[in-house]
Amino acid sequence: MNSNKTNSQIVLYNTLTRKKEKFFPIDPKEVRMYTCGPTVNNYAHIGNLRAYVFADILQKTLEYSGYKIKRVMNITDIGIMSSDADSGEDKMTAALSREGKELSLKNMRQLAEFYTEKFKEDLSKLNIKIPDYIYFASDYVKEDVELLKKLEEKGYAYKIGDGIYFDISKMPDYGILRGGKITWDEGHIRIVENPEKKNPADFALWKFNSKIGFSSPWGQGFPGWHIECSAIGIKFLGEQFDIHTGGIDLIPTHHTNEIVQSESATGKKPFVRFWLHSEFIDIGGVKMAKSEGNFLKLSDLIEKNLKPITYRFWLLMGHYRTKLNFNWEALVGAETALKRLQGLYLALGEPVGKIDQEYQKKFKEHINNDLDTPRALVILWDVLKDKNISNINKKATVLDFDKVLGLGFADLKEISEVSIPKEVARLAALRQAARESKNFQLSDSLRQKINSLGYEVKDSPEDQKISKI
Ligand code: AMP
Ligand code: ZN
Repeated sequence: MNSNKTNSQIVLYNTLTRKKEKFFPIDPKEVRMYTCGPTVNNYAHIGNLRAYVFADILQKTLEYSGYKIKRVMNITDIGIMSSDADSGEDKMTAALSREGKELSLKNMRQLAEFYTEKFKEDLSKLNIKIPDYIYFASDYVKEDVELLKKLEEKGYAYKIGDGIYFDISKMPDYGILRGGKITWDEGHIRIVENPEKKNPADFALWKFNSKIGFSSPWGQGFPGWHIECSAIGIKFLGEQFDIHTGGIDLIPTHHTNEIVQSESATGKKPFVRFWLHSEFIDIGGVKMAKSEGNFLKLSDLIEKNLKPITYRFWLLMGHYRTKLNFNWEALVGAETALKRLQGLYLALGEPVGKIDQEYQKKFKEHINNDLDTPRALVILWDVLKDKNISNINKKATVLDFDKVLGLGFADLKEISEVSIPKEVARLAALRQAARESKNFQLSDSLRQKINSLGYEVKDSPEDQKISKI
């Protein structure tokens, strides 16, 4: 870790222990972090994207404290069933038939690559740093097979009619991540679906498929969904690593199963030290999901003239472990607030001074406290409104915070030059501040100055709009 004088201890909520813990990496020189990537059977929806904004804030918070990060993400392009119970149609197969494409591994890959590109475009629009190491599950089937062989040798895997399964009764602490063992009721649903399984919650390590799939010592088919994250994680980050992220729906099955199969194959515990999960985005009080048909894509927001970065800002106004209910009014409100912040920033002028140490300390305390972005944003507002700090130091401080927040302040200059001249933007921000402090005389004289530069200002209760005369 680099030395950082103002470093405060990072504390993260660990799903494994159900409490906030001080974070230290296994290897002090590098944090090894894994993120469950998307299933690329369709466009990502804005609920999915929350999981990646959260992981991005986590990475940037760690980097802000001087850690070097090795971050791996998988792309699920094969072998995922429509339900957690390993039944139903494979999602990628369903996507091919939806798009009228012939069922083949080549077409499956093409479809996966198409949606992966779209996914990466969404990440960039949200100022999310694309992880350095992104791997398609279909490129690591060999590693899945090797892991499966180990499980078989150690007596954890068994074969039934439709595949190879993991025998959870061999792992007494199965279910540790979900805060206890699986209940009979949950398991009962599964045993009805597959009476051949030894235990209700046993899960597929390999599913046979006579029509399409990869060859394996057990027969043609696809690896189970969970195995890809164990195999890719172990290959690129080692048998034990620091952090694993995903959305909360991954806790009860996907991550629970990842833990048992990895720990039983390697014999090392814990597989991962910190498990972090982000909450859902609901819409109309219901979880946003591809299967529910109630989802919005980032492009739907853009079509309504909302900026992708507004969505990031709106997410950061809530804590990542708080469920958020999406609605358009809230997003429009967030855009107004963001524009005001941007206006205040643009009014600061050119040179960049020094970071204000007091504010930086406060900002760090919040962001290092389990990524408390809502409180960190309050500090951002406080800096911009503080009359006792010079503009150049404000600018340096905002740019410093933005290394974590990723709201794109550094790029604002170019945007303003294209749209509104810098001087007009500066006067407009001053005018907004004057209005807020009810100094209407100053506000009027600034309006006249703006007019003399060929621009006019229209007020709304929330904001001011600037246009050419
Ligand atoms: P998927 O593409 O379905 O594999 O999901 C990708 C990521 O999105 C996972 O980490 C999920 O937990 C997360 N996710 C799915 N639906 C939502 C939602 N409505 N709100 C927040 N995260 C979600
Ligand atoms: Zn995963």
